[in-house]
Amino acid sequence: MKKIIITIDGWSSCGKSTLAKQLAKALNYIYVDSGAMYRAITLYFLRNHVDWTQADDVIYALDDIALEFNYNHKSEQSEIYLNGENVEYVIRDLVIAEKVSDVAAIKEVREYAVAQQQRMGRNRGIVMDGRDIGTVVFPDAELKIFMTADNTVRIERRFQELFDKNPNITIEEVRNNLEMRDYIDSHREVSPLKRAEDAIVLDNTNLTEKEQFETAMQWAHKHIEQYAS
Ligand code: C5P
Repeated sequence: MKKIIITIDGWSSCGKSTLAKQLAKALNYIYVDSGAMYRAITLYFLRNHVDWTQADDVIYALDDIALEFNYNHKSEQSEIYLNGENVEYVIRDLVIAEKVSDVAAIKEVREYAVAQQQRMGRNRGIVMDGRDIGTVVFPDAELKIFMTADNTVRIERRFQELFDKNPNITIEEVRNNLEMRDYIDSHREVSPLKRAEDAIVLDNTNLTEKEQFETAMQWAHKHIEQYAS
């Protein structure tokens, strides 16, 4: 059976990675969380006090960064490694979320990440989620999904997720962070977040996880059949 590329782009905390993981598992495809790459680069910049307003400093730092994804059989997900260290969990912190959109807006950072993402999709059979996957990384993907959900629903979901790890977090902090990231991500000069013209919109405000998955699986099967014929 021929394998396709599925891209999932959209606003922060729409449930992109949940759906992407489910699709990849059901289709036996690779799942790549492109946001984790920008988060890991941000972690490196913060830890090493890189002045990311200076292009030379950014280029020099990127030269020192190696990112890879390794599958963890225990958590049953692929986790990101920064220079050999598993950083899958530290990159989810609000400290990273507060800076990641600034770092992800830098041209050199995007070129670095996109080149690696495109290499990962060379053999197709991949589901990748992010902000520019259908527009820039894989403009020729067979199935492109653009996810959206009501703001209140998104804020509540992310709040629950972060609150479980940090009970001091407030809903205001979460709202401010989501709004700031969405604004920067959709207004930056290089590869802003926007719906690819050929992407299907999936609004999951009133959908259960199961309904959302079934809808997306129907689209996937249709595109796989089309591609194979
Ligand atoms: O998907 P996640 O929320 O983890 O992404 C973190 C940040 O990384 C986003 O807010 C965005 O600034 C950046 N990002 C991006 N392009 C992608 C994926 C993520 O600019 N393809």
